[in-house]
Amino acid sequence: MTRAPTVKLKKAHGRTNSQQRWLNRQLNDPYVSAAHQEGWRSRAAFKLLEMNKKNKIIPVGGNIIDLGAAPGGWSQVAVKEKAGKVIGIDLLPVEKLQGAEIIQGDFTDPEMPEKLRRLLNGGADAVISDMAPNTTGHAKTDHIRIMALAELALCFAEEILNPGGNFVAKVLQGGSEIELLNQLKKNFKIVKHVKPPASRKDSREMYVLALGYKKKQ
Ligand code: SAM
Repeated sequence: MTRAPTVKLKKAHGRTNSQQRWLNRQLNDPYVSAAHQEGWRSRAAFKLLEMNKKNKIIPVGGNIIDLGAAPGGWSQVAVKEKAGKVIGIDLLPVEKLQGAEIIQGDFTDPEMPEKLRRLLNGGADAVISDMAPNTTGHAKTDHIRIMALAELALCFAEEILNPGGNFVAKVLQGGSEIELLNQLKKNFKIVKHVKPPASRKDSREMYVLALGYKKKQ
């Protein structure tokens, strides 16, 4: 990714220091401008594009469930990669997206797996999760919360994945991601941690990839 000349904001215009830092980072992030130019709804779209290129997470014609879909970047990637049915779920509203069905709701809703089975007319071939809870700024708390969400996403995936299906979830480095990895190793053929180039180097964010679900009998 090539870098455009650095933009520097001179005045804060009533912004807090952290708002100012965020804006500076956005303005100087090559992925943000590429997402804008290429029509992706989020810079996060590049993370899935990069991971999928190397690992074939999204099977052509496969049914995909995108957990934490807003604003829709990952669902856009699934559609572009020629998935079959794509269903995006988020607590927040997501603008209509051609080729995908959007459900506004909580994926932990006990009715959700059954509802999705009906919509897909069966199971899913990949569950992709870029979900993140609101951050508190307290590293340990944020780590525990995102890991809890990833574990719930895995339970959900195990309920709905077809044999051979794939699972991706966002985690934060910080210790307990090893436990999740060990749990995944029992039920998937290939399991690894990846940090795609589009994931900011100064962030502890990474992804667990689990390919080839060995469906429980
Ligand atoms: N992958 C998205 C994209 O490319 O546009 C960005 C996802 S964003 C980083 C994380 C999303 O997870 C947020 O929109 C948040 O509302 C959602 N989320 C968090 N907890 C959730 C839950 N329990 N059920 C559904 N969505 C959830």
